[in-house]
Amino acid sequence: MSFQPPKGTADLMPPRSHAWRRALKLWDDWTERFGYPLVATPIFEATELFERGVGGTTEVVTKQMYTFTDKGGRSLTLRPEGTAGVVRAYLDSGATGAWKGAYSGPFFRYERPQKGRYRQFWQLGVEYLGVESAVADAEVIELGYRFLESAGAREMALHINSIGDAACRPAYVEQLRQYLEGHRDELSEDGRRLIETNPLRVLDSKVDRPKLADPPLVTDHLCEACREHYEQVKVLLDAVGIPYTEDPYLVRGLDYYTRTAFEFLGIGLDAAQNALGGGGRYDVLAETIGGPHTPAVGFALGLDRVVIAAGGEEAVGLDAYLVSERGPGEALAAASQLRQAGLRIDFDAEGRSVKAQFRTARRLEVPVILVLKEDGSVDAQTEGERQTLQVDEVPAWMEGRR
Ligand code: AMP
Repeated sequence: MSFQPPKGTADLMPPRSHAWRRALKLWDDWTERFGYPLVATPIFEATELFERGVGGTTEVVTKQMYTFTDKGGRSLTLRPEGTAGVVRAYLDSGATGAWKGAYSGPFFRYERPQKGRYRQFWQLGVEYLGVESAVADAEVIELGYRFLESAGAREMALHINSIGDAACRPAYVEQLRQYLEGHRDELSEDGRRLIETNPLRVLDSKVDRPKLADPPLVTDHLCEACREHYEQVKVLLDAVGIPYTEDPYLVRGLDYYTRTAFEFLGIGLDAAQNALGGGGRYDVLAETIGGPHTPAVGFALGLDRVVIAAGGEEAVGLDAYLVSERGPGEALAAASQLRQAGLRIDFDAEGRSVKAQFRTARRLEVPVILVLKEDGSVDAQTEGERQTLQVDEVPAWMEGRR
């Protein structure tokens, strides 16, 4: 009998995991630079949290949740997204005022699996709670952009929009609904259903949007406060040098968004996987799950897709491979010294021939091969360079090469 991972899931193994580990390190680095501490919430939550927080008419809630009843009779759901859980934790902690958090971990949606779309996938996200100012929107967007850029997803486009708030969106949505009614016959079955449940989502449908010549646009119907907020976001993004494209059709799949909505798109990726991530402002979410009014903004990125966009393969994360002419015990002692000095070192523990050890080193594509000689010295070999050193001189020599 043999087992495979369940449909829509995959094992993350080397060499694919090298790129993941590198991206996760960059994520920690960028979120720390922007002042977002780590938050980790449970992988399952009360089902009602998502029904209320994400929205009972969204596809995520109606079709994609992994919901189960536990032995105590509670209805629980594997988290399909991160924001509702983080906001719940913020409210639960009694925190008030400005608050930041960054998360990273697995999420679950019952989707039709394909490249870049899985039933268990990894998201990286941040939430900035308690701040109404457009400065928070711009900071969050800049963080996502800088991370993606450094992770190697250079071919990307940032799309932004404002989808209004409770003051201006209802009248717009009504106008859109009437417009869509007039085009009902042209829409897909899903599109027709959305006219009643969530007309905005028709604009974001790859099937239906091309059929609509001149739908009313939300940006033409923003109230003064929303228009002003949107203008500020753009001015601030210009000021920090983040390029963006305004996309009046951008809405977002989850109900909780207000005002700013944005998406990072990978250029040259298939449409099914080109959304590297997205987010926006969600000023009413805290209230819908029983908390006080809490303005907020955040985003989530799909790590699987970020790695695809960055080109995937990555060399193993080693500074050097230690080839030993003195056997594996001596290699362990030398490696110990180098590892304590901060170097990433691996070696062969099986006592294989020197030739076989070199083969391994080359396969790993390490930048440096350190040969531990019979006399205890080290022959440091790189492409085009060779240097004889004592073990304790190696860290400084490696540092000098950086
Ligand atoms: P969302 O929470 O739907 O806005 O998703 C944010 C990002 O998470 C998307 O842009 C994707 O990069 C990623 N993502 C969402 N669903 C999946 C999935 N089923 N498989 C892989 N990545 C996903």
